Amino acid sequence: MPYKFTFDLSPVPRFFFREMARISYQKGMHKTLLNTLQDMIRRFKIQEATGLNLSDAVVVIQDMIDLQAINLMERQKFLQTKKRALLLPHCSRKYMDNRCKAMFDENLPSYVCAHCSPDCLVNKADFLAKKRGYDVYVLPGGSCVTKILKAAKYEGVVGVACGSEIRISGEILQGTGVAGQAIPLIKNGCSNTVFNMESLAKTL
Ligand code: SF4
Ligand code: SF4
Repeated sequence: MPYKFTFDLSPVPRFFFREMARISYQKGMHKTLLNTLQDMIRRFKIQEATGLNLSDAVVVIQDMIDLQAINLMERQKFLQTKKRALLLPHCSRKYMDNRCKAMFDENLPSYVCAHCSPDCLVNKADFLAKKRGYDVYVLPGGSCVTKILKAAKYEGVVGVACGSEIRISGEILQGTGVAGQAIPLIKNGCSNTVFNMESLAKTL
C-alpha cells in the first residue's frame, strides 16, 4: 500500500538528506530516533517546506533513514555483484497517459521507455543505468519484482519507489541472495513522482 498521504520533499535542502545519511551511520540510533527526527524536522523546517504534519513527516523521514541504514549494510555485498538491474516506478514517468510512448511488455514485465522526453526522470535514469551495464525495468507495481527475479538471475538490484513499495520489494528479495539498494521517492502521489538523480547515480 502506498502512504495514506502525499508528500513532496523536493523543496527540502540537500543538506537535510546528508544529515539523514549521517544519522543512518549511528549505531543504537533507534532508542533516540523519535526525538532526533522531531528535532531535525523542526530544524530544517520540513513541515513549512512540505505542508506535512509532524507525525506524517516522522513516518516519511523514518522510512528514509531505515532504508539508508539497510543500504549501508548491503553496500559491500552489492559492490561485489556483476549482473544488475535497475527497477524504476512507472509513476516517475513524465506522462502517465498516452503522451508517454513507452510500451508495456508483459513478458518482461515492464514498460520499455521510448525516450520521447529528454527531461523525463525515467528516461534519464534509463540512460544512466544502461550506460553502466544495468538492465532497466519500469514497473507498474511491486508484484512484477518476483517475476523479474525468477526470469533473470540478477546478483544486485537497485530499486526506486516510495518507502512502502520498497519495503514490499525488500521482503521479496529476502532469502534470494540478491543484494539490494533502495532509492526512496522524495515526492510521492502515484503520478509525477520524483527521485533524486544524484543519489541514483551514486548508488549505481
Ligand atoms: S521518456 Fe520514456 S518513460 Fe518518459 S514519457 Fe517518454 S517514453 Fe515515457
Ligand atoms: S508512489 Fe509510485 S511506487 Fe509508490 S505506490 Fe504509488 S505508484 Fe507505486
